[in-house]
Amino acid sequence: MLKPRSYILWLWSLLSLLNAKAQDIDYAKQCIKTLCSDDFAGRGYINEGDKKAAAFIKDEFAAHKLIPLGNQYYQGFGFPVVIYPDRVFLNIDNYELTPGEDFIINPGCPAISGNYKVLRLDSAMVDNSLEFKKWTKKNLKGTFLIVDEIKGKKLIHQERLTAILNNEIKARGLIYDNQENLVWGVAINFESYPILHIKKGILPRLVLKLKLTVDASRIPHSTQNVIGMIKGSVQPDSFIFITAHYDHLGMMGKEAMFPGANDNASGVAMLLDLARHYSQQPPEMSIVFIAFAAEEAGLIGSYYYTENPLLPLSKISLVVNLDLMATGDKGLTAVNGLIHPELFSLLQLSNTRGNYLPDIAARGKAMNSDHFHFTENNVPALFFYLRGEYHHYHDVGDKANAITLSKYNEAFKLMRDFINSRMKLEF
Ligand SMILES: [Zn+2]
Repeated sequence: MLKPRSYILWLWSLLSLLNAKAQDIDYAKQCIKTLCSDDFAGRGYINEGDKKAAAFIKDEFAAHKLIPLGNQYYQGFGFPVVIYPDRVFLNIDNYELTPGEDFIINPGCPAISGNYKVLRLDSAMVDNSLEFKKWTKKNLKGTFLIVDEIKGKKLIHQERLTAILNNEIKARGLIYDNQENLVWGVAINFESYPILHIKKGILPRLVLKLKLTVDASRIPHSTQNVIGMIKGSVQPDSFIFITAHYDHLGMMGKEAMFPGANDNASGVAMLLDLARHYSQQPPEMSIVFIAFAAEEAGLIGSYYYTENPLLPLSKISLVVNLDLMATGDKGLTAVNGLIHPELFSLLQLSNTRGNYLPDIAARGKAMNSDHFHFTENNVPALFFYLRGEYHHYHDVGDKANAITLSKYNEAFKLMRDFINSRMKLEF
């Protein structure tokens, strides 16, 4: 039997062992819930959403005792962005549509307010040259044209629509009807005319008039990347970067909020969980954690970082970029896996050894997340996303309570093992 003193020591070491557990899904869930809360307003450009998210991440970095880089964890920068801070209102034949649920405006939609005529087109009216000539002779001023894309029927002569909107005929705007998904985004410039997207099954065949109000402005926006570091115990001057963008789309008017649970509160949660893990298990190389801003506006935060690096880019052994980490039942994809076969083999090995995820796929180069500008600077960078049955992307339904994190633990351990084996390869 243990002596009382050794018993206390044993209990203490057991407790610290429990405390230093590999991953913490409850912590990740809490982070996601916070990042997706109403208060954070879709981590965009309304109600200081991205600023609040940055402050939350900064506080977590500080709690995990990360060394601050930049100005107290912040690397500030600015860019222009189009925002919809007030009214986004659409009424069709006296039926009021719900923003985000029934319709969205195109990102970059200019401000507009008024009553308009509506003309529903079919593809023959556009693609048949004779018919096209006939109806475009009518007065189309102040008319919204509805393009019905039901059953995937696409127009051959899409450019004819653009011509009608831009030339002297000047139809007022365009409506894409019968959309399966309402996928929104961020624009940094206004488009020349309003485009609306309406969910499948909302509009009747015959539509006569609409009332539309959109308040929009283009503003200079200040934001920040959030950056912290854990010093390596063996090779402090070699760096592994773990990155995830924390911004999302913000809000479309006062009602429609885009919470971005999968995209990318899930990636930020895993980044914070890895920061928590490595703060308790000091790594051999230094690990830099960056939560990027303005990814959705065009990879602006990661571009700014690679143009203004706080540490030499040549000292980075690997960038692990996490974006869309909420699923995993169908496995994981590594963008750039095809251009870094040695890293991809190491990833596969880590997965086989731990028996973590059902499938690991490799893709080539793609400009689809924050790894891209590192790749452009010859830094080995992989972008990881999990695959599974989840249908919300850039829509109002990508909520904290809609995601399952079904393979979170496995994906976390895979990232940890992969990073650890990459650090060991340097010796
Ligand atoms: Zn994303």
